[in-house]
Amino acid sequence: MKKLIKNVNIITPEGELRGCIGVDGKFIDYVGAAEPAGYDEVIDGKNGIATAGFVNAHAHLPMVLFRGYAEDMALQPWLFEKIFPAEDKLTPELVKWASRVAIAEMISGGTTSFSDMYYFCDEIIEAALESGIKANIARGVSAFAETDTSKLAAFRETEELFAKYNGAGDGRIKIDACLHSEYTNNEAVCRAMADYALEKGAVLHVHVSETETEHNECIGRHGLTPTAFLEKCGCYRSPVLAAHCVWVTDEDIAIMAANGASAAHNPSSNLKLGSGVAPVAKMLAAGVNVCLGSDGCSSNNNTDMFTELHFASLIAKGFARDPQALPSRQALALANVNGAKAQGRADTGVIEAGKRADIVIVGTDAPHMHPVYSAAVAVVQSARAADVRLTMVDGEVLYKDGEYKTLDVERAIFEMEKLVDKTYR
Ligand SMILES: [Zn+2]
Repeated sequence: MKKLIKNVNIITPEGELRGCIGVDGKFIDYVGAAEPAGYDEVIDGKNGIATAGFVNAHAHLPMVLFRGYAEDMALQPWLFEKIFPAEDKLTPELVKWASRVAIAEMISGGTTSFSDMYYFCDEIIEAALESGIKANIARGVSAFAETDTSKLAAFRETEELFAKYNGAGDGRIKIDACLHSEYTNNEAVCRAMADYALEKGAVLHVHVSETETEHNECIGRHGLTPTAFLEKCGCYRSPVLAAHCVWVTDEDIAIMAANGASAAHNPSSNLKLGSGVAPVAKMLAAGVNVCLGSDGCSSNNNTDMFTELHFASLIAKGFARDPQALPSRQALALANVNGAKAQGRADTGVIEAGKRADIVIVGTDAPHMHPVYSAAVAVVQSARAADVRLTMVDGEVLYKDGEYKTLDVERAIFEMEKLVDKTYR
């Protein structure tokens, strides 16, 4: 099936172009001003803006269950008094429906891929497969005293997930290696996971220097920052996806840059938990691949990548007291092409012939979208998730004009609410 999106303002790697995008199967086969013939289905872009789909590079999908559950708290009491006890009550059924609700929210907001770290990963993956979205899935590994990885359920589950799902859905599902963080692991396990990631050629997803306390306590324990400690354990031999990086030092940034690591910036979550602001401009200038994530809905409270884009842009400018910091086109790259790179997906992230057709059309009908002088500026500075008109992944339309093509969203919300009533209210 060949699809043509016409009459659309396209954000390309070079600039912006009004014209058409041709899609042949899973791939983009044409981008240009002229309207080519030979397509089976024509989608009218109706003066919308076409951008490469968003990659939510750091999420914990099932935490939509805790949207608004624990507010106005610092990270440590928030985790230990509210979130961990609530997570103890999680069941596969809760995660099954919560994942569908979260994915529906994401695809209706232009997200075409996400990197998740959690547990009950089978349920998250099954939801992703059903929906058609792309996902890099990491089973969070925490080990306080145990140093024998064969005795760690999380480690065994990672191996099982890799065998069962890596490459599933024609490559839409990838399994990442994972350490929850330095502060929830010991050196032996960090070294073992580093070796595992290297052996599998996997991305290693890990929380790094989210709060000042965590950063300084690591220095107290090891005489090293979290980044330097992970480097000592051999983690950076693999492509690391380091979430947060709020408190990273210049030396940490140099380690990340030298090893081609990615930093997932989560502006909403960092602001909400009072963690601080990541040095995004500094990391980008040093050559770190900075991407963008929502983090869990318990500390956000949504997965709206437009909000993350807007916050990323504003706080970069505000904290540097430099209005030229992180211009809209560069900000947009964090949300798509850099995210794709962080996921190890070189075949997507831009609208270009030969790339995977992961495309979002943002409508410009609403008053707040008039006038548009630059499509990238309109997407980053003015647009909202509700402006998304179409979300396509690997050439398949998952969402169009308010309609979900793959998920029964009403049922997912109903089932999730029923279980939330029983478990948490
Ligand atoms: Zn996180």
